[in-house]
Amino acid sequence: MNIILLGAPGAGKGTQGLSLAEKFKIPQISTGDILRANVRNRTQLGLKAKEFMDKGALVPDDIVVNMLVDRINAEDAKAGCILDGFPRNINQAEVLEKTLASMGKSISTVIGIEVDRKELVRRLSGRRVCRKCGASYHVIFSPPLNIGMCDKCGSEIYQRDDDKEDTIEARLKVYESETFPLVDYYSRKGLYRAIDGKGSVDQITLTIVGAIEGSDNSKVS
Ligand code: AMP
Repeated sequence: MNIILLGAPGAGKGTQGLSLAEKFKIPQISTGDILRANVRNRTQLGLKAKEFMDKGALVPDDIVVNMLVDRINAEDAKAGCILDGFPRNINQAEVLEKTLASMGKSISTVIGIEVDRKELVRRLSGRRVCRKCGASYHVIFSPPLNIGMCDKCGSEIYQRDDDKEDTIEARLKVYESETFPLVDYYSRKGLYRAIDGKGSVDQITLTIVGAIEGSDNSKVS
């Protein structure tokens, strides 16, 4: 079962990815999280990636693709994975397809979480995330019980650099020009399932699970 979560920044891919990974017992693979870990650990890859991430631009394909291929080849992803934030453009989608095919695998379903632009900006500008477990909060709509502290693991929560206002606009533009064409790309392949991303987190999870289980492609994989 290889599921792609598609959607603009702030659509809820990370939050839904966590729930789906738990439910289907396969790892959530977030290229954004892997890149941020590299930035934090000051690896060579992280240093290169940071200049693009800070601007809200996509990190060059060669960096992200190699990183992703290594990750999906890991033992824990044998039964499949939930891809969150990859692919981000057509080239990445083509590489992913070839890589999975070489492993005798394929994409089961592409879940497109759809949220309007105004709501995306509202969510991103108030978003806070846990440094350790990745749990996501919002300063107004879903604040943590204790200010600055994750409800789930007690670690520090923080505002991502790229969730600051000027970078949000750049990221949404990049989404529209580079990533949105994937909706059409996967629709043509019959893999795309549109999900309304407004509503409670649990309700959206239920809808996504229904779409995954109802998908002919995931039944045969
Ligand atoms: P995310 O956490 O998915 O919002 O990603 C944060 C940032 O990491 C993005 O704005 C990009 O700079 C970079 N990034 C994450 N995934 C990819 C990808 N598949 N291709 C290129 N850049 C990516």
